[in-house]
Amino acid sequence: MPLEPLLPLFHRLNREHFDGQLTRDDRPLVDVRWSDGRLTRTAGFYRRGRDLCEIVLSRPLLEPLPRQATLGTLCHEMIHAWVDRVLVVREVHGPHFRARMAAINQAQDGFEVSLRHRYPLPVVASRWIACCPCCGSRTPYQRRRQGLACRHCCERLHGGRWDASCLLVFEPNTA
Ligand SMILES: [Zn+2]
Ligand SMILES: [Zn+2]
Repeated sequence: MPLEPLLPLFHRLNREHFDGQLTRDDRPLVDVRWSDGRLTRTAGFYRRGRDLCEIVLSRPLLEPLPRQATLGTLCHEMIHAWVDRVLVVREVHGPHFRARMAAINQAQDGFEVSLRHRYPLPVVASRWIACCPCCGSRTPYQRRRQGLACRHCCERLHGGRWDASCLLVFEPNTA
């Protein structure tokens, strides 16, 4: 899904599943934004800072996925915000969180809120391809390495010993 502005989604979910409690005078109680390209350890998080509460969704993880993944993740983080800011209860995925999650999942079937954000990491394109001059094998590498020989050929041709004739040649991956 191409990046979609999050604020309209936030307002819609707030109306439909939080009785409008996550806004005051139409202004969100939390900031909502997309991450930069580096947030890959989680699909999203909610955090309360000293003077700012925010929900951040992972651009690299969610962008390639269908829209339901963004809705489910945003809604998950909105439940955290609701427990924290509206109920003012300290819990992570405790009973309040779970009850609201179950109610939202029951009320609609456009997306699903789950306890964990289980999304596959997008495959990162490798920067280099290591080519073996003997057998022609091509192996992706993130980093260029010095003195690396083709293991297959060293075993096949040199009794398992490293041999300069099997040194891998690194080429930039243009794919
Ligand atoms: Zn959570
Ligand atoms: Zn080889």
